[in-house]
Amino acid sequence: MILLSGADLVLPDRVVSSGTLVLDGDRIVDVGGGAVAGGARDLQFDFPQHYIVPGFIDVHVHGVEGRDTLDGGDAIADIAGRMPAFGVTAFCPTSIACSPSALREMLAAVRRARTTRAPAGARVLPAHLESNFISPEFKGAQPLECLRLPPSALGPRSSDLGHRSSDIHDPSSPIHHPSSDWDGNDILREIDAARPDVGILTVAPELDGAVDLIRCLVADGHHVSLGHSGATYEQGLEGIRAGARQATHLFNRMMPATHRAPGLTGAVLESDDVVAELVCDGVHVHAAMVRVAMAAKRPERIMAITDGTAGSGLPAGSRTTIGGRPITVRDGAYLDDGTLAGSVLTLDRAFARLVSGMGLSLSDAATVCSTTPARALNLQGFGVIAPGAVADLVVLDRDLRVVQTWVAGNLAWERSDIER
Ligand SMILES: [Zn+2]
Repeated sequence: MILLSGADLVLPDRVVSSGTLVLDGDRIVDVGGGAVAGGARDLQFDFPQHYIVPGFIDVHVHGVEGRDTLDGGDAIADIAGRMPAFGVTAFCPTSIACSPSALREMLAAVRRARTTRAPAGARVLPAHLESNFISPEFKGAQPLECLRLPPSALGPRSSDLGHRSSDIHDPSSPIHHPSSDWDGNDILREIDAARPDVGILTVAPELDGAVDLIRCLVADGHHVSLGHSGATYEQGLEGIRAGARQATHLFNRMMPATHRAPGLTGAVLESDDVVAELVCDGVHVHAAMVRVAMAAKRPERIMAITDGTAGSGLPAGSRTTIGGRPITVRDGAYLDDGTLAGSVLTLDRAFARLVSGMGLSLSDAATVCSTTPARALNLQGFGVIAPGAVADLVVLDRDLRVVQTWVAGNLAWERSDIER
């Protein structure tokens, strides 16, 4: 058994002062309000003037410290190994729109990392594909040449794999790539072949065929997130009715809400069925709009994400890549043409900013960084400090900086300067 004692324990509904956590194997077995007497213990850490929160779960992260999920090779495992330093105990490796072969390589790397997780690495969850099925007008930094329309009717998917659906090569189509040798069917084939490793797909619901695609993806067990989209309010609701239960970086790259035209933003803010991602770096979304979103949806329906890139954790001015395209680290990650291409945020900094800069309580910040993402992904026993829950934990000092990160009851990371 392992004891973590003396810290303030951040529970979903309250903070227990000077509490004690007892870990046994990969689980929390006791959450106490004071010192625990007796019993065999292998290890004890005393953390007066510290907080313990459930391990952070990032459902939207493209990379960190110079590694991008689309780098190939061991990139996913490498990123997993770097995540505990930022308090992240589980994450969805996130792609941008890419070719079928690049997607296949990335999903193979996800598979390898999920089956051979190093004890000191974060848990690798099924991937989030910021997919090919998004709006060209709201693509942000995604490569236009990789966007495709959803295959019409989806019939060809299994019955005629060589078929190219006609709408993709229709010259009137908004996404027409006569020079390309692959289409939406080829992407869906890669997703089908790697189904257990594909968790979330971002889809723009207003595209021709998107509502059918959403139904189909949901029936196959995937989570659909609405985003990179020019959908109206009504088109947003149609996507939700088709089974979408998530929204990709609320406010960013979607039709904004106005009082006469609520857009997808309004549909997401209004719907209790939808959990919204929110980039809490102070750059992507103004602090006031973060508070508006929290008030509208409550922390139970908001997930803090980083949308972090390989630029996260690197100093300003650094050069790295997203999906092979160069980016520069400033207050965010920027393409060379000045397009914002994601953040340089890490989830520990998001947690600190939510508490110190945006006015959330410790419990609410832990809810949006851990509990809500766990619930949205149906991860039982994750994202909460409670007896029987998995021992995925972060110890923070009073400045909300990470001191220790525990994954499955193992000390995965420890700050080098702490004294015992
Ligand atoms: Zn995005």
